[in-house]
Amino acid sequence: MFPLKNLTKFCTKCRCISSHAEGLKLSEQSWNFINGTRCAGAGETSFQLFEPSTGSKLSTITDSNASDVDNAVSSARKTFKTWSRFSGMERAEILRNAGRLLRERSQDLAKTEVVDAGKPLWEAEWDIQTTYDCFEYFAGLSPTISGQHLKMSGENWAYTIRQPIGVVGAIGAWNFPLQIASWKIAPALASGNTVVFKPSPLTPINAVVLAEILKEAGLPDGALNIVQGQGETGQLICKHPGVNKITFTGSVPTGKLVSQTAAETLKRVTLELGGKSPLIIFEDADLKNAVNGAMMANYLTQGQVCNNATRVFVHESIHDQFVQLVSDELKKIKVGDPHSNDTTMGALISEDHLNKVLGYVQSAADEGAQVTGGKKLQVSGLPGGYFMEPCMLVGCTDNMKAVKEEIFGPVMSVLKFSTEEEVLERANNTHFGLAGGVFTQNLARGHRVAAALEGGVLWVNNYNTFSVELPFGGLKQSGYGRENGMAAIEHYTELKTVYVESGDVWTPYSTT
Ligand code: NAD
Repeated sequence: MFPLKNLTKFCTKCRCISSHAEGLKLSEQSWNFINGTRCAGAGETSFQLFEPSTGSKLSTITDSNASDVDNAVSSARKTFKTWSRFSGMERAEILRNAGRLLRERSQDLAKTEVVDAGKPLWEAEWDIQTTYDCFEYFAGLSPTISGQHLKMSGENWAYTIRQPIGVVGAIGAWNFPLQIASWKIAPALASGNTVVFKPSPLTPINAVVLAEILKEAGLPDGALNIVQGQGETGQLICKHPGVNKITFTGSVPTGKLVSQTAAETLKRVTLELGGKSPLIIFEDADLKNAVNGAMMANYLTQGQVCNNATRVFVHESIHDQFVQLVSDELKKIKVGDPHSNDTTMGALISEDHLNKVLGYVQSAADEGAQVTGGKKLQVSGLPGGYFMEPCMLVGCTDNMKAVKEEIFGPVMSVLKFSTEEEVLERANNTHFGLAGGVFTQNLARGHRVAAALEGGVLWVNNYNTFSVELPFGGLKQSGYGRENGMAAIEHYTELKTVYVESGDVWTPYSTT
């Protein structure tokens, strides 16, 4: 059994993990979880794991190779034969148990998530809540999954069966490690599928812990398998003929590769990809709420949120006031040690990613934007951490690189507009279509704009509130399929139709 209680004993003072974790040597751990047991990957390559807030190396992890993926898929296929025959109530009991264990260990899990992802503790606690909410919600839905009965002509009837798809290959991104894992694993298991999950190589820790919690909750061995690795391991999952469905969260370019590979065996695919969402603030908006909404839409998780509204369109009549208010708010953000309770913004995920985000800020400056913040930051006591100042770009135009491309960092671009028609045209002028928002006190306009914005998730007078009961997913190149809500079940099940004949079979060919 993986020593979860040890894993959570990270020292928040000296940041030393191995010596303070009482025997847990991260570098020596087996990071895969196959058929109910931790094991090491057998690949010839490996990747290094760094703690974002310190820059210190936590571990070297072996990539899973074809034989690891094959073992994981075989184990999932074998267990599918029994797990798919559990009743919804039987599955629900196990998922509910998992929800309870996640609640009980939420503090420990949150601390681990802080080490792994660099996000502040308050946010990691929020993520863990969304994780147990997800298991409890899909535990509730599991016994409700059913088909239909239909009366046909005469005494005949037909029915539909909603049944699991088989083995789900799930691939995650790094910005919400446990939440992304649960959004895939909970509905897949609730529907009777078994799973092979590959977390991001940047945030691999809690996936294995989650697998162990599910085992403790009563999940049969093999129903959930974890393989660690980079893109190549992801490709092995997408290619594997024993995998029936792929659910992927990540960038648009990787999503295209995933979809191309999965197409070779016509796997079902759900893609949750990137975004460059718009937030439209009209002249009649409650300005304080609009500023709060724009802050939530840009600085949550250091701006590393797929549905963040990074293009903030502000009506020209309130533009300067809005910019002043956001500048005031930026000064209040406390960037620092993510383990501290008063830190509101932590570290970016990696040095490479930090440099990429800083590069976008520089490109905006070069193209004429006025930049507030946006510099690399040294946090006292954490000299190696990947910190930066939250940033606002003012005087932006639609064609700037930083306005068009997904930055995935704490960078808000502010754009002026004059009319509703004009702003809708500009807001939708992107290949992304994940989310969007509008602030106005005119409710008719709020609903009209929400209907016209080309995004899968919209907010009227708020931003970045989430609930597992509601479907989540994108339009256009932000992906397809839906996670969460009852809609998710449709993406983890197949529908069969059965015709039942009660009488004789009619045919025009019979002579008698
Ligand atoms: P990424 O595309 O680089 O990687 C995502 C996952 O895919 C990782 O596990 C990675 O190892 C794996 N991978 C890489 N190459 C692969 C390949 N060729 N085949 C199969 N798998 C491969 O994305 P990232 O940097 O981890 O995450 C950031 C991106 O994810 C952003 O674009 C963000 O918007 C998006 N995202 C979307 C959502 C959503 O729900 N729509 C949520 C979170 C993040």
